[in-house]
Amino acid sequence: MNKPATPNSFRTGPDEQGMFGIFGGRFVAETLMPLILDLERHWNEVKNDADFRAELTDLSTHYAGRPSKLYFAEGLTKHLGGAKVYFKREDLNHTGSHKINNCLGQILLAKRMGKKRIIAETGAGQHGVASATVAARFGFPCVVYMGATDVARQSPNVFRMKLLGAEVRPVTAGHGTLKDAMNEALRDWVTNVEDTYYLIGTAAGPHPYPELVRDFQSVIGIEARAQILEQEGRLPDTIIAAVGGGSNAIGLFHPFLDDKEVRIIGIEAGGRGLDGIEHCASMNAGRPGVLHGNRTYLLQNADGQIMDGHSISAGLDYPGVGPEHSWLRDSGRVEYVPILDDEALEAFKLTTRVEGIIPALESAHAIAHAVKIVPAMDKDQIVIVNLSGRGDKDVHTVASMLGMEI
Ligand SMILES: *Cc1c(COP(=O)(O)O)cnc(C)c1O
Repeated sequence: MNKPATPNSFRTGPDEQGMFGIFGGRFVAETLMPLILDLERHWNEVKNDADFRAELTDLSTHYAGRPSKLYFAEGLTKHLGGAKVYFKREDLNHTGSHKINNCLGQILLAKRMGKKRIIAETGAGQHGVASATVAARFGFPCVVYMGATDVARQSPNVFRMKLLGAEVRPVTAGHGTLKDAMNEALRDWVTNVEDTYYLIGTAAGPHPYPELVRDFQSVIGIEARAQILEQEGRLPDTIIAAVGGGSNAIGLFHPFLDDKEVRIIGIEAGGRGLDGIEHCASMNAGRPGVLHGNRTYLLQNADGQIMDGHSISAGLDYPGVGPEHSWLRDSGRVEYVPILDDEALEAFKLTTRVEGIIPALESAHAIAHAVKIVPAMDKDQIVIVNLSGRGDKDVHTVASMLGMEI
């Protein structure tokens, strides 16, 4: 396939059909189409609405704790002996990750649309908890679809959601993981057309979700860009973020896409290596196909069946990726690189020791790539790593990886 022509700007997509080049779109059942169009209409209304923006900014500030800090990671920088490393501290947000940025935006949208009920999907439970949080804050009943396998292995998050007043519905279809939970949420949405808002958890799904989630998460990159200009007087040389569905990454990347001098790197879950099937590197080892309403890179077997991915970090094992990333990959603007479970675990331990920050295992993938490239960079160069979340949720996983009991 020929490379698409380089556009004047990488920041103008998607088009009216929701396409980023050949990716994205809205491949949904006919019954869902009116809902998708209604959502798009409301989104177009609010996205430049000053009152909506003001309400979101107020909540982001006083409820979520924004702006998040851009922190010079001096300990890690000294340890690596190359470029200066900065962390964008999304781990400091309320509920412990970037997910709250998206949930606050979408709950305000649901309120504007006059919806009465929130549904969401979740894998490890992080998005479920963030959704249950904003539903509690705004007084919405909330149903969270979660694969039965995930319900069994993520019991603390299931309990958190229940405390917050959400109903958790286990999904037994397929392998009982995130992909199946998302199918079930879409099914619920079709049958409860009138009153239900589907609060999607990443920059994927049918148009306009990839766009609106990106725009809610772009606060990360907008802040980081201003903060580095203020703190260093110039743009970074490289920015790095982990890619599950791709929301924290596109949030950091989007405001930098037209800064040609900034190298942009997205990190996929390399799991136990790309040779086998125990990874979740859809852009390095998958092929384009259609899932959850959009065309994008997907992990598929020879028959085109979607495969379950594997990663040490639950937040990275979605077998697809948001369509804008697929487009940025093919256009060459962003590099996508796999990091193995073991490499992420080492970066997790290193960051904890030299920075006194326990990173989420997802974020540790991004740090692991910095660990690889920073030593060969000059001391006056700058790297920003998105610290998408805190690692408290991961201590049991890490303990068992290290052969320890808590
Ligand atoms: C959910 C999650 C991710 C992955 O999701 P994206 O949509 O790719 O950002 C990454 N980091 C943390 C801490 C998460 O909770």
